[in-house]
Amino acid sequence: MRAALLLEEHDELVVDQVEVAAPTGSEVLVRTAASGLCHSDLHFMETDGWDVERPVVLGHEAAGVVEAVGPDVREVQPGDHVICCLSVFCGRCEVCLGGQPYLCVRSRVECVRTAEEPPRLSRGGQEVYQFAHLSSFAEEMLVHENALVKIRPDMPLDRAALIGCGVTTGTGAVFRTTEVGPGSTVAVIGCGGVGMSAVQAARIAGATAIIAVDLESRKLDTALRLGATHAVNPADGDPVAQVMELTSGGVDYSFEAIGLALTAQQAFAMIRRGGTATVMGMIPPGTKVQIEGQELFMSEKRLQGSLMGSNVFRVDMPRLVDLYLDGRLMLDEMVSATITLDDVNDGFAAMKAGDVVRSVIAFN
Ligand code: ZN
Ligand code: ZN
Repeated sequence: MRAALLLEEHDELVVDQVEVAAPTGSEVLVRTAASGLCHSDLHFMETDGWDVERPVVLGHEAAGVVEAVGPDVREVQPGDHVICCLSVFCGRCEVCLGGQPYLCVRSRVECVRTAEEPPRLSRGGQEVYQFAHLSSFAEEMLVHENALVKIRPDMPLDRAALIGCGVTTGTGAVFRTTEVGPGSTVAVIGCGGVGMSAVQAARIAGATAIIAVDLESRKLDTALRLGATHAVNPADGDPVAQVMELTSGGVDYSFEAIGLALTAQQAFAMIRRGGTATVMGMIPPGTKVQIEGQELFMSEKRLQGSLMGSNVFRVDMPRLVDLYLDGRLMLDEMVSATITLDDVNDGFAAMKAGDVVRSVIAFN
């Protein structure tokens, strides 16, 4: 099959032939229909504090059709439409049983192949690493069954792919990590795929003020179409001061979708007394976020993280599919470009230029 590889010596991806093994045990072979380009992939390409073993096939936001299953698979059968998720879970450990399967680490041992088994992916006899247990920049994905969920067949797969990471991360941060409800006031910093999904989730949850914050005016325009009630551009002045003025004292909930210390600090600064700031962005290892400690108890402000939207993706993703198909979750508007696998580097160049919310690779 063809796949986009990140090799030892390159920053750009190289499209080449990669061998994929046949499914064993609880593995499922999925023919990839579509894969979104997520900013996290770019972090690992640029090694800006993040690192990944190479050679590796990146990509982790995908949907497709089951081609073949291992003998122990119970969840799906060939022909089923599925969304893949990097939050692979073992289903038996304390966090899984406690309702937080996205925090499972036992899956990293239980849901992968052992060193004695042949690798899932290889090239010329050499192992190719699987990124996020998925590697979706490839015509086929060989994954554990606990890394996917079956969805209704009338869901377009090029839209379903977005739910695989960005949409689940952004909506889950609102629906699961926080208690945003009718009448809440919300600010979202960073209007890429994750931030735009948080904006939409805030609208669906009934927030009355939804303030989108981004340096790109085109993204702000899109955010206003997707449910934001106000747009704040930091180029026009301190975004915290602008949010304070719009809300007379700060929002109930803020969401940071960039992964910078500065924007995490701004997210904390723009919540009201008793408010909650939630960081969804990938702040690089070693980076310190500084806040005024007194505000934790004198103002009872909270700063918290949200990993992959605190998802229970087997439950959440089919619901998000329903929300799309009944018109409340707007995914078409988030797809800026549909590209081929060979255009993957151009897609990341457009992401770096700030031109796009989401580019999606469509496979034939
Ligand atoms: Zn992602
Ligand atoms: Zn577990």
